[in-house]
Amino acid sequence: MVSAKVHELLNAQINKEFYSAYLYLEFSNYFKDKSLDGFANWYMVQAQEERDHAMLFYTYLQNENMTVTLEAIDKPKNDFTDYMSVLTAGLEHERYVTSLINEIYAAAYETKDFRTMQFLDWFVKEQGEEETNAQDLIDKMNLFGADARSLYLLNQELAARVYAAPSLVL
Ligand code: MG
Repeated sequence: MVSAKVHELLNAQINKEFYSAYLYLEFSNYFKDKSLDGFANWYMVQAQEERDHAMLFYTYLQNENMTVTLEAIDKPKNDFTDYMSVLTAGLEHERYVTSLINEIYAAAYETKDFRTMQFLDWFVKEQGEEETNAQDLIDKMNLFGADARSLYLLNQELAARVYAAPSLVL
């Protein structure tokens, strides 16, 4: 049995994940505008993954016979001053999402909601990867961003990222 609090947090997470998709679309849009198509591609793939995350929460709620309530999605942050400010906003956002997943997990743990905990296990691991990926981009930009030729190569590297469906299937 899923508690009212866990239900509310799971439902809210649908919106948070769609917001994440929206935020990364904005990042992609920013880099497209700067003619850095590789960075734009990387964040486009990221946005697709976030949409998948939203749908996993949506499907989990429906499978468990819990009501889904869709809310308005906030306008994404877009006050970027330079490339690095986008990348750091990405890391900051992933750390925030990790805190949200942990909050749901803690609420599920409190009520011995083992099914929800098992569902969330995938997201706990995923958030570790998301934070690592966001930090890697910052590290690479620190190393190569100041040099135009290196930035060109980094942009090419990021252009190679392809979308893959999530390994979690409900
Ligand atoms: Mg996500």
